[in-house]
Amino acid sequence: MRVLMIAPPGAGKGTQGALIAAHFGIPHIATGELLRDHVTQRTSLGLAVQEYLDRGELVPDQVVLDMVREAMVAAKAAGGGYVLDGIPRNMQQARAAYLIARELGMTADVALHLDADDAEVTRRLLARAALEHRSDDTADVIAGRLALYHRVTAPIICWYRDRGILVSVDAMRPVQQIRREILTALDGMRPLLDSEAASARHPGDLATLAEAFGVTGPAAAPRG
Ligand code: AMP
Repeated sequence: MRVLMIAPPGAGKGTQGALIAAHFGIPHIATGELLRDHVTQRTSLGLAVQEYLDRGELVPDQVVLDMVREAMVAAKAAGGGYVLDGIPRNMQQARAAYLIARELGMTADVALHLDADDAEVTRRLLARAALEHRSDDTADVIAGRLALYHRVTAPIICWYRDRGILVSVDAMRPVQQIRREILTALDGMRPLLDSEAASARHPGDLATLAEAFGVTGPAAAPRG
């Protein structure tokens, strides 16, 4: 099972990503977590990205893409499944992440969109701030992160809808209810993904996906 998640901050992608990963026994690749670990450990990468995280801004694409490539190579060695959480955040990342996945023969089966409105996610993030003391969970930074989400991340959802891999879930409900709906949807897709019919179907899907990302010609041919 190969899932990428798109959601506003506070919609629960960290929580649901971990639950999906545990359910399918696949790696949970969470870019925000990986970056925060670097900051905590004061690595040179951590020191370089700390200000972006504190301000709620996106770190440079190449930094995240290098991290994701490394994690995807490890995921391939571990069986090929993954839950990607936190990337893509913009169109350039969507294209680059797709190209990395295609090169590795492991493009996403599902783009999972967690849908929640600004008032609800703001309420959740402020509640989390009291518990976790994340530097980017202040009212001002939350407002900026949400604006950024609407401006540069949300527009990529329609690409996945056009490609036929979008699953959108109402994330305004309690965690366990959302979890059930996600797992029911993903479990329902599993036989289809495993079947030979799926491999027969994929080439067409992938070719149009490649076109949508501006890739044409033989390079757009699907892998596995
Ligand atoms: P998250 O835990 O997904 O809310 O991410 C926390 C912070 O990490 C974001 O506000 C960004 O500063 C940074 N970050 C996480 N993922 C990305 C990404 N794909 N591209 C750029 N910055 C990211």
